[in-house]
Amino acid sequence: MKNSEMTARDLAHIWHPCTQMKDHETLPVVPVKSAQGVWLEDFEGNRYIDGISSWWVNLFGHANPYISGKLSEQARTLEHVLLAGFTHEPAVRLAERLCAIAPGTLNRLFFADNGSSAVEVALKMSYHAHLNNGETRPLFLSLSNSYHGETIGALSVGDVELYKKTYEPILIRSIQTPVPEDRSEAAAHKAADALETLLRERGSEISAMILEPLVQCAGNMHMYHPVYLRLAKTLCERHGIHFIADEIAVGFGRTGTMFACEQAGITPDFMCLSKGLTGGYMPLAVVLTSDEIYGAFYCDYLEYKAFLHSHSYTGNPLGCACANAVLDIFENENVIGQNREKAQWMAEFLKPFEALDNVEEVRQTGMIAAVELKGYPPQERVNLKIFDYCLKHGVFVRPLGNVLYFMPPYIISYEEMRHMIQTTYDAVKSL
Ligand SMILES: *Cc1c(COP(=O)(O)O)cnc(C)c1O
Repeated sequence: MKNSEMTARDLAHIWHPCTQMKDHETLPVVPVKSAQGVWLEDFEGNRYIDGISSWWVNLFGHANPYISGKLSEQARTLEHVLLAGFTHEPAVRLAERLCAIAPGTLNRLFFADNGSSAVEVALKMSYHAHLNNGETRPLFLSLSNSYHGETIGALSVGDVELYKKTYEPILIRSIQTPVPEDRSEAAAHKAADALETLLRERGSEISAMILEPLVQCAGNMHMYHPVYLRLAKTLCERHGIHFIADEIAVGFGRTGTMFACEQAGITPDFMCLSKGLTGGYMPLAVVLTSDEIYGAFYCDYLEYKAFLHSHSYTGNPLGCACANAVLDIFENENVIGQNREKAQWMAEFLKPFEALDNVEEVRQTGMIAAVELKGYPPQERVNLKIFDYCLKHGVFVRPLGNVLYFMPPYIISYEEMRHMIQTTYDAVKSL
């Protein structure tokens, strides 16, 4: 089978995510036949380094023998059972383990099956918990430039215009407060001052503040100082506002600690996890919360008091088995320590970018690095040019507008990292 045959069959039926489908008249869909470690392989034997962990989900490589083994074992034992009124060992074990490693005492766990639905769960739970406590707070607060997913509630609290503007008339109510402008402590304090002013006016209407700790990934890998999290958490507490940490992209060691919140020493009221949770194997998400929130729903059966949200695949055992395998790897290997070392290689390899005239800024938090280009209007679609160049040279990256970024699987080797970054450097130089 040739690549072209597979892509022709694809384009006859499949409507791809986040894509203007007409672009595929000129830009290829990349048909992947198999994958191993950091490498994707197409139907003609060409190999590409997966520089963005297949949309940030893959932690320990493709076809990881350990995770694959646990998955197939689980598939032969129990593939699925509903979680209402039933339970199973993979879910119980996963819940015990995640509650144990979560910041502070987040002792209660609710399952969802993708990041957006985890955000929906947290928003609904927050609103409903206030209501059960006798307060109506119909508004949510988030940061400017934030991203929390694509379903209506999640889209409503996001602030990436490209995804949101079209749907504005049908969204739920949310307001935004400025994200710190850059990684400095001064910027964090300035943004916290703005938040303080806003909360003084509208604090009592707001159920929850949701944010992406340390890095706004879909928002062009914008990074800010951890002190902001601490200041924002304190301000929210003062106004009775829940704090939702959306760690869907940054959780599981991506920023140099297991969870990004740890770097600020805070415990959120809700923490949403997905993406890396299963190491990129299965769609699964969780929302962790406190005994206090849980307690707001716990009473003799009364209509409208219980949290009646559900998904068909809630707590799917295959997903839980993969997530348990991922936690095994974190326990058995020094993943965080190795990541810190690899983040240093990354910083080394990125240095040459700083000397290029068309580079505005190079920034990095742990195993996330971004190179922001300057001087290209959007219609030039410089991201497609870089994508195309790199693909021809065995590297898959998917720049966000003018921001080229790297978020490789943690198992990437020194040589693979060098090749990945050198190739993108050549791509940027060739523009
Ligand atoms: C990807 C992402 C989501 C949405 O998760 P999906 O599984 O794509 O629905 C939400 N929040 C953040 C921070 C994300 O990066």
